[in-house]
Amino acid sequence: MTTAISALYGLLFGSFLTVVVDRVPRRASVVHPGSACGNCGLNLGARDLVPVFSWLVLRGKCRQCHTSIGIEPLVLEVSTAVLFGLTAWHFGLSWRLPAYCVLMAGLVALSWIDLHTRRLPREIIYVTAALGAPLLVVAALVEHQPKRLWMAALGAAIAVALMGLIYLASRGGMGDGDVRLAPLLGAYLGFLNPGLAPVGLFFGFLTGAVVGIGLLVAKRGTRKTAVPFGPFLALGTVLAIFFGQRYIDFLMVR
Ligand SMILES: [Zn+2]
Repeated sequence: MTTAISALYGLLFGSFLTVVVDRVPRRASVVHPGSACGNCGLNLGARDLVPVFSWLVLRGKCRQCHTSIGIEPLVLEVSTAVLFGLTAWHFGLSWRLPAYCVLMAGLVALSWIDLHTRRLPREIIYVTAALGAPLLVVAALVEHQPKRLWMAALGAAIAVALMGLIYLASRGGMGDGDVRLAPLLGAYLGFLNPGLAPVGLFFGFLTGAVVGIGLLVAKRGTRKTAVPFGPFLALGTVLAIFFGQRYIDFLMVR
């Protein structure tokens, strides 16, 4: 039940994120004006903005001029819903749930924008941190585990140190947005276990390398493809949140 309700919230949040990823890179307000068709300027009302449902009814087209709005809003809404649902499944009904849903929403928006513009807007990183940090504090206090805040700080420090080294070693191959994102990811992972911070980065580099090599093979290595790294950092973090502890336990047993 919690999973279903969280997924529903994910749909609504994902719908809002479609506005965020469109406007934040253009430095436009996310609340004003309301959404309108990019082609004919039709102001979108409530019936055009029901997540997924509207898209399916209108088959991804503007109600007035029938210009295609593409499948992207649908993908964004569904992926946010899936992540919110998984988070609820993993954490159950607790203060960790809203805290980690904030992170998921931030990661979806950042990944999307990085894929499209090769940038990780600092506004989104800061807003995610500003909304997430108080929720993590509440979660730690409600669970009577204030030490988790130190764990989060340690995770953030580990992530910054590692990403800083990689940034220096890459000599400009890595954006400073990736480094700016590191403490946020490290804090969230550290809250669970500071050991997850390096695991999350490792998962990110692993998936990034696999996809990067795949792209090189697909293009037969003729062109140097710059792969945005933000989405892989995000993916690595999500994997570490859900599976990282099992991975650590596995390493420890051997
Ligand atoms: Zn239109």
